[in-house]
Amino acid sequence: MANIIDGKAISRKILMDIKELIQTCARPPCAVFVRVGEDPASVIYVNQKQKIAAEIGIKTSTIVFPRDVKLGELLGAIDRLNGDSEVDGILIQAPLPTAAIQEAAFAAVAPHKDIDGFHAQNLGLLCQESDRGFLPCTPAGIVELVRSTGVNLEGKHTVVLGRSLIVGKPVGLLMLQKKAFANTTVTFCHSKSENIANHTREADLLIAAMGHPRAVTADGVKPGAIVIDVGINRVADGSIPKGYRVVGDVDFEGVEKVASFITPVPDGVGPMTIAMLMKNTLQAYQNHVYR
Ligand code: NAP
Repeated sequence: MANIIDGKAISRKILMDIKELIQTCARPPCAVFVRVGEDPASVIYVNQKQKIAAEIGIKTSTIVFPRDVKLGELLGAIDRLNGDSEVDGILIQAPLPTAAIQEAAFAAVAPHKDIDGFHAQNLGLLCQESDRGFLPCTPAGIVELVRSTGVNLEGKHTVVLGRSLIVGKPVGLLMLQKKAFANTTVTFCHSKSENIANHTREADLLIAAMGHPRAVTADGVKPGAIVIDVGINRVADGSIPKGYRVVGDVDFEGVEKVASFITPVPDGVGPMTIAMLMKNTLQAYQNHVYR
């Protein structure tokens, strides 16, 4: 049976370390969240981030725009936040109403305030293996979970299911880096990949980020692999009052019998994403104050 990687406990430890560092800061680090529309999941995510920020001493506020906001108005607000010396970090909560608006909004955030790590400059610094940029939060959190296993993966094979800009691509690039914890050979699979199980069966580290409930089953996993489940999927479940359950992209019950380590859903990758956002906010404050 696999060891369970407890993302909740690991993230708590990181948050407590950040809280301690914040107590030595001249003022609380400050992050502003920008939300467009009332997408229920976005409302929940922003509230969660604000709650955890408050617990560890980060000041936050949220600016909410209606769904039909004009792009110019949105970009104007981001520009004012960029120029506001009281604001260390800015987060644009995705998804925005259209892909074009989202792209423009992400690009408008000043790179040194981009605590989500989605600006092209920060993604470029990640490609260059520079420590000067912000890492995207979910990929950075995944790397911390992998490191927590203590397994040396150098020279081993990472397979990433998914190639999105927020998860798949950056996490694959991180595991490719010439750094002691990484240095793996990386394969990316996507919706057009053929014979995916042939790839996943070769993976020493398998990262599933597709958004397909329980798609990875035990017969597609190499015995002893580390399996990181990024997926967050709602599936109908009439046996519980809310009528649905949240499951990952991995069939946990089957795969935990063959893997060496596995993350649960919930309480695996999810809490790490928020912890890494807090880490980036502290980094933004430090860059800002000590620049
Ligand atoms: P996304 O933008 O929809 O990307 C999904 C990726 O999966 C795409 O690259 C897609 O390929 C690929 N894909 C689709 N079907 C596939 C298949 N059958 N085999 C292999 N690849 C396939 O999603 P995302 O934003 O990366 O998120 C992925 C999942 O992670 C979602 O469930 C999301 O809710 C979850 N998530 C969790 C966290 C967290 O903190 N835990 C954070 C972010 C996302 P194409 O490129 O060809 O379309």
